[in-house]
Amino acid sequence: MRIGIDLGATKIIAGIVDNNGRVIKAYKIPTERSDGYERVIDRVITLIHTIVRKGKLHWNDIERIGIAAAGQIDKDSKTVIFSPNLRWHNVPIKQDIERAFKIEVVLENDVNAATYGEWKFGLQERFSNVIGVFVGTGIGGGLMINGKLYRGYQHVGGEIGHMIVNPHGYPCHCGTSGCFEAYCGGSYIIERVQKFIQKGYRGKLWDIIQGKVDELHVGHIEEAYCLGDSLCKNIWEEVIEYMGTGLASLVNLLNPEVIVMGGGVIQGTKFLITDACNVMERRAMKASIKDVRIEKAQFGDTAAIMGVAFISD
Ligand SMILES: [Zn+2]
Repeated sequence: MRIGIDLGATKIIAGIVDNNGRVIKAYKIPTERSDGYERVIDRVITLIHTIVRKGKLHWNDIERIGIAAAGQIDKDSKTVIFSPNLRWHNVPIKQDIERAFKIEVVLENDVNAATYGEWKFGLQERFSNVIGVFVGTGIGGGLMINGKLYRGYQHVGGEIGHMIVNPHGYPCHCGTSGCFEAYCGGSYIIERVQKFIQKGYRGKLWDIIQGKVDELHVGHIEEAYCLGDSLCKNIWEEVIEYMGTGLASLVNLLNPEVIVMGGGVIQGTKFLITDACNVMERRAMKASIKDVRIEKAQFGDTAAIMGVAFISD
């Protein structure tokens, strides 16, 4: 048995993973990142104790604790160097968890772990070159090349969301502008729409959300776009164009067999993958796009847990 933890900005999910990658039991708690690193780690430790007790496991049965964290991981010290989402700098997660349990701890970036999980337990038999594109509040990416996770020189590669698709474009949370995620990340899209609503825009979108601006989701924006709402038409057409452009650049650069797409924006929209694929096919080089497939991620919230429970260097 293995334990996988997905440590995100808003929630921590812990799962018991069997030797076939199945998540037998999973628990979710809020991260409450504003409490600071030490308190969050205490909550992770308590959560691991809870899951072992409720799963009726013995400590001897547990081969590994895998932690998938939303941040950049140092390749040597296995600290989280920087996590804008968790607001952490240089925190020794691996050491702290190992000290608490005396069990091997593996620390990996959450999107690398999710890509690995989708590959190992879903795509592995058919494909060895897979790009994971996870579109949630931002965009995370993972690269499986020739059946191995590609991490880059300092192990912080695969930042697909920060490929610059327009040097004069929208500002990005990373500090530069025109990144893929500044165009297609859920929080950025919603922020753009909300600004217009705050200035008094109504239209069909207003009817769909019934005035509840705080509950606005990209699915509402796509729905309003389909109904011909003029604001959503402009904004969503731009999202489709840039999503397709970003995918075309990935295809030209890496010539993958499959791009696996997941995250809240993908799960919450009906036509985005198809619409973006049309743009991608138009824009990518013919030889690079030949037989490339796009697949929806299968494992949702549990992909990172499954991946980090099994990932290796
Ligand atoms: Zn960026």
